[in-house]
Amino acid sequence: MYRSHNCGELRINDINKEITLAGWVQKSRDKGFMVWVDLRDRYGITQLIFDESRSDAALMQLAKSLGREFVIQVKGTVIERESKNTVIPTGDIEVLVKELTILNTSIVPPFTIEDDTDGGEDIRMKYRYLDIRRNPVRNSLLFRHKVTQEVRNYLSNLDFCEVETPYLIKSTPEGARDFVVPSRMNPGQFYALPQSPQTFKQLLMVAGMDRYFQIVKCFRDEDLRADRQPEFTQIDCEMSFIDQEDILDVFEGLTRHLLKKIHQIEIDKFPRMTFEEAMRKYGNDKPDIRFGMEFGELNNVAQHKEFSVFNSAELVVGIAVPNAAAYTRKQIDELIEWVKRPQVGASGMVYCKCEEDGSYKSSVDKFYDQDDLANWAQITGAQKGDLILILSGPANKTRAQLSALRMELGNRLGLRKPHEFAPLWVVDFPLLEWDEETERYHAMHHPFTSPKPEDIHLLDSEPGNVRANAYDLVLNGNEIGGGSIRIHDKETQALMFRHLGFTAEEAQEQFGFLMNAFQYGAPPHGGLAFGLDRLTAILGGQETIRDFIAFPKNNAGRDVMIDAPSIIATTQLDELSIALNVK
Ligand code: ASP
Repeated sequence: MYRSHNCGELRINDINKEITLAGWVQKSRDKGFMVWVDLRDRYGITQLIFDESRSDAALMQLAKSLGREFVIQVKGTVIERESKNTVIPTGDIEVLVKELTILNTSIVPPFTIEDDTDGGEDIRMKYRYLDIRRNPVRNSLLFRHKVTQEVRNYLSNLDFCEVETPYLIKSTPEGARDFVVPSRMNPGQFYALPQSPQTFKQLLMVAGMDRYFQIVKCFRDEDLRADRQPEFTQIDCEMSFIDQEDILDVFEGLTRHLLKKIHQIEIDKFPRMTFEEAMRKYGNDKPDIRFGMEFGELNNVAQHKEFSVFNSAELVVGIAVPNAAAYTRKQIDELIEWVKRPQVGASGMVYCKCEEDGSYKSSVDKFYDQDDLANWAQITGAQKGDLILILSGPANKTRAQLSALRMELGNRLGLRKPHEFAPLWVVDFPLLEWDEETERYHAMHHPFTSPKPEDIHLLDSEPGNVRANAYDLVLNGNEIGGGSIRIHDKETQALMFRHLGFTAEEAQEQFGFLMNAFQYGAPPHGGLAFGLDRLTAILGGQETIRDFIAFPKNNAGRDVMIDAPSIIATTQLDELSIALNVK
């Protein structure tokens, strides 16, 4: 038996027990006649003591030879500590060691295995197995396990059946590029790794599985964005014989269950907002509603005066920053510079201070009198002491810019409290989205999403105004899940592909398997997928997903620990019939 107990469980009532522990040497303190060692495993830390007056010389010598991260086994007696440690649960006791076995030695680790380590991001990634020994990272993984387990419990109790779908498939369009895998046995042919199991879960509905879920890896070859992983995990779900309301109900229930189990937080009905309203009020389809600063549209009250910048703008829109009227010129200039950064892209910003005495002071006083400014305050909801910030320009761009500013201010003002949870359903997404680059419409969600029946007639005349039965679940300004009611008949699916610019042959070639299946009695169905990594991070009160993934890729999409991707041998390339053309 390697151990009778783990390093986190001995307490005062275990005193005098003869026990065996195994673990890693966190640190040791050598006082000459006494040596203390902190022994660590996944469960905690237990202090060991070697005492010259109670141990033989060989044992003392061996204890003094221990280095950080040595793996040892000890046998000894639990005794009461003289000076107790109130910080750790085992702090009342220590183990007087009688026998010490070194199970393995360790070279000096490249960073300290402590909560606050001296190791930078890169080095910790390279030695991720050491990083995971640290409490914060290990606890994140344990936390993820708990979330996953609760998800499985909840869904299984509702008759959802977990089904695995294949990883070697053909392209599923979710808007990213595919990772592809060459097929040795079919020279020149490739599998694609799933961007999601979308078509398979729909086929499972055709197959009569009724309620499916899967905690599943998805792969998307996207341009690098902060906090995106090329492989990530979804809680993927699908249901038959449901309408949108049923889906929102079940997955609101799941989210509520998680908040309750994990944070003992009870949230009543989740608020809902249409896509259009979210864009108008927050400039964003995933608004953080933990704080206000809703947009106020000022066209009616700010145009038709002498200020040509506003007059020529499609949209003039502002937000009221609470208690910011006292900002200095320098602070305001800094904000103006902030919105002018290329990442945000505004060309300038107008401000108006709502002074405590009820007067207004703006950067465009030349053009607007106090009554005008009072209108701005009224529309943006500004109170005395607030600062109104206003952007203008093309509607969509300006909304995005003001949204970025709102979020930045939310962060700076501490309004985005990590342990406050504000879920929100955003519904009625547009079916199609204009893509500037390819100059055509793309499916905003994916091509299997059904249009709202009452909007179908607009498909030809105003494709951009067709709404979909599509919804996102937003938590604290992050999209944590999204889905839709699907098309379940061949004709509508073919119509959809036609509108997305596929010829009938292309549609048949790529998605014939699905459209054919629809001819064999496909039930009405729909579903959604949650991003498990992000959901876990947010529930854990953090916004970076990397710490909740055991072996993540870095921002360049590399695994720096195993050094992937990497080149492969010419023989392997030959077997795969691949000739490289790397420039
Ligand atoms: N497959 C979709 C996605 O990955 C989710 C869904 O529509 O159920 O976003």
